[in-house]
Parts: sequence; structure tokens; C-alpha cells
Amino acid sequence: MLDTWTNWAGTVTAKPASVHHPQDLAEAADALTTAERHGLPVRALGSGHSFSPVAAPTGLALDLSAFSGIEHADPHTGLVTVGAGTPLHRLNAELDGIGLAMPNLGDIDRQTIAGALATGTHGTGARFGGLATQVRALQLLLADGTACRCTPDENPELFTAARVGLGALGIVTSITLQCEPAFLLEADEHPEPLDSVLERFDDLAADNDHVEFYWFPYGRTALVKRNNRLPATASPRPLSPLRHFLEYQLVENAAFSLLCRIGLAVPASVRPLNRLSSAAWSRRSYSDRSHRVFTSTRSVRFVESEYAVPVASLGDVLRELRAALPRLEHPVMFPVEIRLAAGDDIWLSTAHGRDTAYIAVHQFHGMPYRHWFETFESIVREVGGRPHWGKMHRLDARELRELYPRFDDFRRVRDAVDPQRTFSNPHLTRVLGA
Ligand SMILES: Cc1cc2nc3c(=O)[nH]c(=O)nc-3n(C[C@H](O)[C@H](O)[C@H](O)COP(=O)(O)OP(=O)(O)OC[C@H]3O[C@@H](n4cnc5c(N)ncnc54)[C@H](O)[C@@H]3O)c2cc1C
Repeated sequence: MLDTWTNWAGTVTAKPASVHHPQDLAEAADALTTAERHGLPVRALGSGHSFSPVAAPTGLALDLSAFSGIEHADPHTGLVTVGAGTPLHRLNAELDGIGLAMPNLGDIDRQTIAGALATGTHGTGARFGGLATQVRALQLLLADGTACRCTPDENPELFTAARVGLGALGIVTSITLQCEPAFLLEADEHPEPLDSVLERFDDLAADNDHVEFYWFPYGRTALVKRNNRLPATASPRPLSPLRHFLEYQLVENAAFSLLCRIGLAVPASVRPLNRLSSAAWSRRSYSDRSHRVFTSTRSVRFVESEYAVPVASLGDVLRELRAALPRLEHPVMFPVEIRLAAGDDIWLSTAHGRDTAYIAVHQFHGMPYRHWFETFESIVREVGGRPHWGKMHRLDARELRELYPRFDDFRRVRDAVDPQRTFSNPHLTRVLGA
């Protein structure tokens, strides 16, 4: 029995009234009927990787770990149906085993597929959408326990709403994804002055499949990461296990963790440590199975806020952010991360209707972050920035309604499928309304 639920970042805790571990659809439906009988709200548990309180279970919590693994796969069409509780690392390994892959992924693979979709999780690439754009069908349990399938043709409005549904419409039990033949990615990472990256970013975005960059706020250099698809005939040139361990585990996690702890103890050291961290960036080039290149291990705890902005405003936002640094009350230890996504038509997708740049700000766990995040928020809001649903922000339903042209449509579908607000919690009341 789970007494207190805590998210990965340790920023949100909740005490669910009870936790259920349904083994099949009938048991999950029973749990919903029990919740209805006791007047309890219901939340499906993902892997708790949201920084915002979107996942906080306040009534009956449903652990869907039994709904895990590939249920059906068609290697010819690439359509794969998977249990909603499947962690992405398991999904990637199983897809690899049958010669398929997700077209795009975020930075890590610890989330469940349903949890990742619910908050609009994305990777990077100007021609690629977030994970929700890969969904072709969803199977949900509605508040009264009835099962409902939705696709672009069957319950199309529920489909458009539930692909990024914040867990507000029902319990997703299985998901059909459009996958593609397994592919190799060639990774090229190199440090480059931030100003130069900004100057040529349009070209970088157009010339590479998946491009992103990191920038330590007090450094002048950015780390540019370009991942490009290789032809099917290519052979992988992965990093040796030793080099992988040294660079990813030791430098990016263990050594960086040590620097962060020094920064926490001696705030005056953060600026020089920031410069030291940027100076440690070096060129790296290798190729590997796509999911091994897209995702990495993140063992240093941090807090994060991320906003989606129109891609054309990226340079201005970063220049304003840099200009605001001297006015911050506390120094910033963690880098800023910039990624891209193609516009899509999903109602609550952060990339709805526009090609998007994502700007993420972070701070080491335990260091003051509020003034940094609020300063960032005030800058991105000037350009119509939309907050990632799983990350920290202060917006409410009134403000979010201005940012999403189909916000009221989402709320109409929510009213129709969950009039009693079985699938709500205080955070959802704030961001979607009562
Ligand atoms: C280290 C780290 C790296 C990250 N990297 C990225 C990144 O690269 N890109 C990005 O966009 N985001 C990223 N995120 C954010 C993360 O992807 C999202 O917050 C995601 O929602 C977390 O998935 P989860 O399984 O932990 O879901 P949770 O956080 O546990 O839950 C999220 C929401 O999904 C709902 N939910 C879960 N399962 C179901 C279900 N079966 N039916 C209905 N609703 C359900 C929950 O109730 C909740 O509302 C990162 C987070 C961390 C901590």
C-alpha cells in the first residue's frame, strides 16, 4: 500500500485514499465503480515524472503496471498496440526486437507511454511532432467504467482531446502507435558560441532531423546536438561501453552532481562552475539504435519549467533571458535546453497550430528557483508561450484559454465524458477550470 505518493523531483506529494493494482480491464472497471460508490476522484499513476502536480492522486490511485508490453504489432504497417502502463524503455526494447521504433522520443525513457502522452511529452526535430502525434487509437475506461475506443473515425472528438488529455477524460488502457522500421541515428555533438548557434539556427533546424542545444546561463558556449537518420544499409559505430560510462555516467551525472552540490553549498561558486561545465563540453560523434541516441540517464535531480514558443521568437527570448541574469536573486546552476517540434492539430498540444521551439529552464534540486522561473515565465508569456503540462508554471484556466484556440472544445468534451469530475485533482481544477 502506497502511503504517500511523491513525484520524481520531490516537489509534489499526495496521500491517495487507496491504491488499486488492476490486472485486467474488468478489475480496472471495478475500481472505477468502487470510486464512484465512495465519491472518490481517480488518478492513473504513471511513473511520477511530471514536475507539476498534474499526477497527484488525491482519491483512488490506479497503478496500471499490469497493462504493460506490446499487445499487438503489425510489422508491415508499423501499427503497434501497447498497454498504457508500459514504460518507454520497455516499449523501445520490445519494438527493437521486432524491427520497429518510435519516430521520435524525449530525453529519457523512464515515463509510461500513457503518462508521457497525457502531458504532451516531446523530443526535438523541426519536421517531427511530439509523441501524441504518433497515436492512431486509444482505448479508455470512462468514469462509469464503460470501455470506449477512439480513433480519427470513431469518437473523433474524444480522440483529438485525449491524445494530450492530462488524465482528465478517462483511464487510458491501451494505445495504438504508428511506429516505423528500426533505424540508426548518427549523433554529432559539439560546443559552439551561443551567438553563432542563434545566428544559424534556422539552417541547423532545416538541415538536421533532430537538433537541440544546451546553454549554461553564465557561459558563452552552447552544446549543439544533432541526430540524423542513417540509411538502412549503415552499420552502427556506438561509443565503447567504457567511453559511454565515462562521458554519460561519470561526467554528465556523477561529476556534474558533485559540481551542483558545491554550487548549493557555496552559491558564489555557481558562475565559475557554470563556465567550467561549459568548457568541459567536447565534440562527440557516434551512431547507434535510435532509442539509445534519443534518450539518456538523468540521475541528478532538478526542477524544471518549459514553455513552447513560436519558433521565430526563440532568439529574442534567449537574448532577453540572458539580459535578465544579472537581476536574478540567486544564481542558476543548470543549463537551458532548446528543442523544436512541428505544429500539430491536437487540441491541448503545446505545438497546436504552430511550429514550435521549446525552451526549458532548470535548477538543481534544493537551490532557489522561483525568481528564475518567474523571470523566464514573464519573458515567454510576452510571445504567447504555452507551458508544458508536466512541468512547473503558474498559469490558470483563464490564461491558458487565451493560448489554446480549442481550449473550450476540450472542456466541452470533458463535460460530456466526465461531468462529475471523477478524473480531477486540485491542479486540474486550476488549469482546466472546475
Ligand atoms: C528527468 C526528466 C526528463 C524529462 N524529459 C522530458 C522530455 O524530454 N520531453 C518532455 O516533453 N517531457 C519530459 N519530461 C516530462 C515527462 O515526460 C512528463 O511529465 C510525463 O508526463 C511523465 O510521464 P509519467 O509516466 O511519469 O507520468 P506521470 O507524471 O506519473 O503522470 C502524468 C499524467 O498522466 C496521467 N496518466 C498516467 N497514466 C495514465 C493513464 N493510463 N490514463 C490516463 N491518464 C494517465 C496521470 O494521471 C497524470 O495526469 C521529463 C521529466 C523528467 C523528470
